[in-house]
Amino acid sequence: MAHRSNFGTEQDKDNCSFYLKIGACRHGERCSRKHIHPISSRTILLSNVYQNPRHTDPQCPLSDEELQQQFDDFYTDFFAELCLYGELCEMHVCDNVGDHLIGNVYARYETEEDAQRAVDRLNNRWFNERPLFAELSPVSDFREARCRQNETNECNRGGLCNFMHLRLPSPALARELNHQLAVENRAQRLERQARNDFYRLGWKDRNAALEADASRFHADLGANLNAPDWRNGPSGGDWHTEATPA
Ligand SMILES: [Zn+2]
Ligand SMILES: [Zn+2]
Repeated sequence: MAHRSNFGTEQDKDNCSFYLKIGACRHGERCSRKHIHPISSRTILLSNVYQNPRHTDPQCPLSDEELQQQFDDFYTDFFAELCLYGELCEMHVCDNVGDHLIGNVYARYETEEDAQRAVDRLNNRWFNERPLFAELSPVSDFREARCRQNETNECNRGGLCNFMHLRLPSPALARELNHQLAVENRAQRLERQARNDFYRLGWKDRNAALEADASRFHADLGANLNAPDWRNGPSGGDWHTEATPA
């Protein structure tokens, strides 16, 4: 593709700037401009997963606090799940109401391999009785994708806005999860390092390393059996993997 200076901008008559910047456009696949689906990306999109009860029921009896608590539980659940597939860098949840953005969850990983692994596995996962749909997304900079007016309460398009209106977790929860994420990412980096070191060893040293690992594993197992796991979030969201057809 020839690189032009107006690629992906409003002036670009071929490529859809909404799809490139936000990963979703209101015209969907019928858009008159091209949606170029990335072959590799560090960002993934899970479409239409967060269900804000106020969007489906205007008479929703939940108070603001209850609604936030419910969202915090959802956020914790997804955050923990997304950490399983690689080094998670950021996660965002849309609170828009337009069909193409409603309940969208975006996640950005440290590597393209992590993102691909997440997409492959999540497409076999169900959350609260519904199958998940995951895809690689072209979004690379969430500052470009989110609606700035919404963040200062000045967006007059409301939930129908075509830029992301993000719903944020409570500040205390965000702090806690970011702390856990840093710990988790550090552990993953150390594990990768250990694996690389292992492959550089000769077979004798590899066997010795494997034996040492096994005894450490059994010692850890004894020590950690009753330790609470932060991944077991409070929401009890129902996750399961699609049964492989017999
Ligand atoms: Zn489009
Ligand atoms: Zn907006």
